[in-house]
Amino acid sequence: MAFQTHQFPYGDDNYGLLLHCTESNLTACVDAGDAAAAEAALVETGWQLNHIFITHHHGDHTAGLAELKQRHGATVLGPVIDSAASTLYDIRLGDGDHFEFAGRQIDVISTPGHTLDMLNFYIASESIVCTGDTLFVMGCGRIFEGDADMMWTSLEKLLALADQTDI
Ligand SMILES: [Zn+2]
Repeated sequence: MAFQTHQFPYGDDNYGLLLHCTESNLTACVDAGDAAAAEAALVETGWQLNHIFITHHHGDHTAGLAELKQRHGATVLGPVIDSAASTLYDIRLGDGDHFEFAGRQIDVISTPGHTLDMLNFYIASESIVCTGDTLFVMGCGRIFEGDADMMWTSLEKLLALADQTDI
């Protein structure tokens, strides 16, 4: 199988995700909350980190970003909205943007609510969407920066994705 994922826990209740293409040998890490946990996952898989996709600015998703970026020379893609973490982003993304990773198109879906800068990374060819803190197990993320109407509109965007999509 050419496209692989590896999920790893960190902190009390977070998961990081590595995306890897066995053909191009490219690897991306979705969010960077804990550099040590991400390093352990990279050692376990034997994958070399090339890209980091940031869903939103919260510390439990960005605290390890500077260290991971510096150690691996990774290209960081993150939200267009400014934050404490955004000075580390190389490429800024907003709703409707798309980019290519390992020969796959990744569509950027903005879902403000939990934060105003929240991004989702949708890889339609692999039926995968990375939703950050928009969706939690059995619910949605707490609304810190947006409001309920905004969050509802955001959830409707994710509901519109193909039924077989893995979250
Ligand atoms: Zn968050």
